[in-house]
Amino acid sequence: MTKFEALGLDQPLLDAISDLGFETPSEVQEKSIPILLEQDTDLVALAQTGTGKTAAFGFPMIQKIHAESRTTQGLILSPTRELCLQITNELKLYSKYVKGLSTVAIYGGASITEQAKQIKRGAQIVVATPGRMKDMIGRGMVDISKIDYCVLDEADEMLNMGFYEDIKDILSNTPQEKLTWLFSATMPKEVASIAKKFMHQPVEITVGTKNAGASTVQHEYYVVGGRDRYSALKRLADANPGIFSVVFCRTKRDTQRVAEKLIEDGYNAGALHGDLSQNQRDLVMNAFRKKQVQMLVATDVAARGIDVDDVTHVINYQLPDEIETYTHRSGRTGRAGKSGISMVIVTRSELRKIKTIEKIVKQDFIAKKIPTGIEICEIQLYHLANRIKDTKINKEIDAYLPAINDVLEGIDREELIKKMVSVEFTQFSNYYSKTKDLNTSESGRESVSKGNADSDNSGSVRYFINIGERDGYDWMSLKDFLRDTLNLEKEDIYNVDTKDSFSFFNSDAQLTDFILQTFTEFKVDGRFINVEVSTKPGGQGKGGRKRDRKRGNRKSGGNKSFKGGKKGGYGKKGGKKRQGFY
Ligand code: ADP
Ligand code: MG
Repeated sequence: MTKFEALGLDQPLLDAISDLGFETPSEVQEKSIPILLEQDTDLVALAQTGTGKTAAFGFPMIQKIHAESRTTQGLILSPTRELCLQITNELKLYSKYVKGLSTVAIYGGASITEQAKQIKRGAQIVVATPGRMKDMIGRGMVDISKIDYCVLDEADEMLNMGFYEDIKDILSNTPQEKLTWLFSATMPKEVASIAKKFMHQPVEITVGTKNAGASTVQHEYYVVGGRDRYSALKRLADANPGIFSVVFCRTKRDTQRVAEKLIEDGYNAGALHGDLSQNQRDLVMNAFRKKQVQMLVATDVAARGIDVDDVTHVINYQLPDEIETYTHRSGRTGRAGKSGISMVIVTRSELRKIKTIEKIVKQDFIAKKIPTGIEICEIQLYHLANRIKDTKINKEIDAYLPAINDVLEGIDREELIKKMVSVEFTQFSNYYSKTKDLNTSESGRESVSKGNADSDNSGSVRYFINIGERDGYDWMSLKDFLRDTLNLEKEDIYNVDTKDSFSFFNSDAQLTDFILQTFTEFKVDGRFINVEVSTKPGGQGKGGRKRDRKRGNRKSGGNKSFKGGKKGGYGKKGGKKRQGFY
C-alpha cells in the first residue's frame, strides 16, 4: 500500500498521482485528506505556499463528487486569474481517470460568454476569482445553489485584495449545509473572522508554525545607502551566476524602472505589474517559465500568480509597506521541497523592520555584505572557466580550425587560456575595478560619497517636507530622520526648520535629484512623505526648479552600465539575445 492509498484515496486518483510522479504526500495533504474524506466537516488549514494545498483539497473533492451528475458540486475561490488557471490545470491532471468529471475556470479578462458556455455543458467543479464569480451569479450564468463543497484558497490574499464583500455575496448564494474548506498561508484576524462567521466548528490544522515562512528558505539582509539599491541589486545578480529570481519593488513605477535598467544593462529581465496588459503579462510569465527571463521584477499584487517552482532567489529591492507581505514574497522560493534564498536590500533606517520580520517568519536573518568587485570578478572567473569546461564542442568549428590555428600559432596553452578568459572577463573586471564598497555599517557614522561632480548645480536648495512637529519631530530628530533615510552625513542636511504640519530643510544643490528621487512615492508607516523644492519666499530655494522624474537623470559612476560588455553573458544564458520589453 502506498502512502497515498493509506490516506483513503481510490484507484483513479492513485493512478493519476503515480502519473504525476508524486511519491509521498506532503504534510498538509497527510493531515487534511483523511479528515476531508471521512468526515463531513468544515476545515481551516494553514500552510505556506508551495506545500501542496491544491491536492490537499483537490483529491478529496474529486473523490467525493458525483461525476455522473452534471450539477455543479464544488466551488473553489482563489484570488487571481493565474492561480485560478493553475488550480484548474492541477485538478484536471488529478481527475484524468475520473470519467465525466469536468472542471471549469472562471476569471476576469476573458470572454464571459465563453465561460458561461463551458459551465452550461456541465461543470461539477468551478474554480473562480471572486469578482468574475459574482458577476456571473448576477447574470444567472452559473448556479451554485446546490454545491456540497466550497474552498476558499489563499484566503488571506483574497481578503488582502479586498474581496471580503464579494465572498460574502457569493457565499449567500450557496446552501447552508455545504462544507467549507479554508486554506491560507497566514491567519490574520480578517481570516479568523471569516472562519468564525461563515464556518461551523471547523477542524483546524497547521503545518509548520503558524505564519512561519517555509524553513527551506534562508533569509539574508544587506545594508546599503538608499541610492545604492540598484548597484547592490546588480552585484547580487552578478555574484550569483545562473540566478533565477523574482525581484520585488514597492510600486509599479519602480518595478518598471528597475526592469528597464536591468535590461539596458544586459540582464535577461522583465517587468510584471498591473499597468501592463494581460497579454504583456502572459508574455513575460511565459518567458520567465522558460527561463529566458532570469530576473522577474514584480509588484506584490502582480506576483501573486507566480507558480514557478525553481526560483533560486527572491530579492526584496525594497521592503513591502505591509510587513506581513514579506512571507508571500519569500514563499516564491523554496517551493516544492527545494531550497531558496530571500535577500533584502535595506537602508539603516529600515533595520528595525528586519527584527519585526524575524518574529513573523520565526527565523533569524543572516547579515550579509554586498560582494566587492573583486569577489564578483573571482566568482565570474570560476564560472566562466566551468562554462568553458562544460561547453559541448560545436562540430561546425572543425572546418575553420586550420585557419584559426594559423592565427593562434605560436601561443602556448597557458597564454591561450589567459587570453580566452580575458576576452570575456576584461570588461567585467574593468567595470568593477572602478566601483566602490556599497556596504553601510549597521550602526552608522560612515557615509557614501555624495553623488558625482558631473552635476552642474551649485549653491544650496531649500525643500518643503510634509511632516512636522505634529508628527513628533523637532529640528534635530527630523535632521536625523533625513540623514538616515538618505544615508548622508549630518552636515549634508542643514537649516532644518520644523513647523506644525510641515518643515523645511536645505541641502547642496548637487543632492537635489537624489533627494527628490528618494522621496518619490516614499511611505513611512503607510503614509506618503512628500518632499518638494520650496518655492516660498524665504525658502532660499532655487525657485521654480521642478522635479525631474526622467530616468537616468542622476548619474553615478558606479551605475554606468557596461552595455555590450555583457553580450556574451556572464552567467546570463550565454549568447541569448536580450529579452524584449514586457
Ligand atoms: P500551494 O497551493 O500550497 O502553494 P501547490 O498545490 O501549488 O502548493 O503545489 C506546489 C507544487 O508541488 C505543484 O507543482 C504540485 O504539483 C507539487 N506537489 C503537490 N503535492 C506534491 C507531492 N505530494 N509530491 C510532489 N510534488 C507535489
Ligand atoms: Mg495554492
